[in-house]
Amino acid sequence: MEDIQCIFCNRSSDRIVIVENGYTGRKCPQCGLIFISPRPTLAKILNLYGHDQTVVSARSHISAAFSKRLYAKHNVRIIKKFIKTGSMLEIGAGAGYFLDEARKEGFEVYANELNTILANYIEKVLAIPCESSPLDISLFNGKKFDIIYHCNVLSHLYNPVVEFQKINDKLKKNGLVVFQTGNLGDVKEKYFKFISKFMYPDHLFFFSEDNLRELLRRTGFEFVKIHRYSILPQLMFSKMARKVMNFVKSKARAKNLDQHNPTEVPSFNVPHAHNNAVHFKQFIKNAYSCILYLIRYKIGYVIPKKQRPQTVIVVARRTN
Ligand SMILES: [Zn+2]
Repeated sequence: MEDIQCIFCNRSSDRIVIVENGYTGRKCPQCGLIFISPRPTLAKILNLYGHDQTVVSARSHISAAFSKRLYAKHNVRIIKKFIKTGSMLEIGAGAGYFLDEARKEGFEVYANELNTILANYIEKVLAIPCESSPLDISLFNGKKFDIIYHCNVLSHLYNPVVEFQKINDKLKKNGLVVFQTGNLGDVKEKYFKFISKFMYPDHLFFFSEDNLRELLRRTGFEFVKIHRYSILPQLMFSKMARKVMNFVKSKARAKNLDQHNPTEVPSFNVPHAHNNAVHFKQFIKNAYSCILYLIRYKIGYVIPKKQRPQTVIVVARRTN
């Protein structure tokens, strides 16, 4: 663990705004960046990914196919407004569903994923070329790309400025970097209570919109477009849904305890009933994903967003 300073202003901060899992997030008084300090070492962070010890496991990435594809299609549509076809690299590709959707739309896709379980899934199941060492100019035999994409990866980067310089190096001339991230550096602290997990220590930095512009300016990019979506309605809805689910689960547990009868003869219909229950559970999960999607991208697009939690999609062009 090492004490660090704001990566933009080179100053330390005593203003602790997040405490989670034994880690503290400090807000830079000058630019609003929230940075974890003390920060775990790079070796420890790489170990999290290499051994599937991150807050979100490989299994949950793979099983979230329905919702991941839904969100992927939305972002592929945004990219298509700027470039219709070309080679695309995704950094932190997860289970690869975004790239699979992008391939259906005509892009030539490549993945970079540190988690070896996910990297294996991307290569073997989705048949997408994947390399699992950290981003470097030598990946894919030094190939350069038309588009580099990442979604909810920026906050995980150990040194965002260095990583964006590498992204710049891996892009062709006038290539695009497209990424989705949050705006926590801009958010009033009264809204922090709606965020159930800050995912420390997976997340290391939370940016404001000015921080994103500064990051791009310093690493040779021209800001092209930002799409902003308020996620406050989604966070409030999820919080309510979690409460309802916990209530239902506790009722079900109480009922099971009441009805438990050790002499009961097992029913031959159990596997069939079990299958139905699994399908029903999946149906409910998918319906829930659709509702969250609509709340985020339809309602979240039109309601007030200033100083409230947002997800933003940024498009920037390589200029040097
Ligand atoms: Zn700062």
